[in-house]
Amino acid sequence: MNAVQFRAFEPGIEVKGQTVYSIIDGLGYFTNISRRYLSQVGIGTVKDKKLVLDKEGWYSQEAWLKAFENIARQIGSRVLFNIGMSIPRNAEFPSLTTDVKSAIYAVDVAYHLNHRKNGKRMFDIQTNVMMEGIGHYGCDPIPGKNEIISVCNNPCPCSFNRGILTAMARKFEPSARIVHDNSKECLKYGADSCTFHILW
Ligand SMILES: [Zn+2]
Repeated sequence: MNAVQFRAFEPGIEVKGQTVYSIIDGLGYFTNISRRYLSQVGIGTVKDKKLVLDKEGWYSQEAWLKAFENIARQIGSRVLFNIGMSIPRNAEFPSLTTDVKSAIYAVDVAYHLNHRKNGKRMFDIQTNVMMEGIGHYGCDPIPGKNEIISVCNNPCPCSFNRGILTAMARKFEPSARIVHDNSKECLKYGADSCTFHILW
């Protein structure tokens, strides 16, 4: 699957409202800015200068990625990192995370749980079946070391992915470091994936 930052792999995929809300959370007090970036791509409705977003609703993945692209271009990737960091606070995650490994493993499950394809959630918690179509967050623990390699081949921006991995790892290891492997390709430069080393 060819991943290009900000470009959905296929049309018609939807993302859950509570995940979209992380843009508002990640931008903190700048609610007028998040309102502008989301409403200009057709996400939510503006009422009394406030953005009305249904956390239980579903929104276009293409539009949500477009909002990221506009934010990256106009504000910079630091904000994308903050939005990524706010994802575990907002999105629905599997409850069984007990350490860094299970937390990083849960990222891909949560990613699919919070996306819908043909009206169906892309991860089924009853059957553990995952649908393809949005890429993945890898989780390869290195035996005998406190290290996990995560290859992210998905259309989300590099800094956003680093933010999610950082927040999840630090839930269990507050001093965990997430190092972008600069010897590997990067989504930022049109490649299929980014590789991160999670160290603690
Ligand atoms: Zn990258």
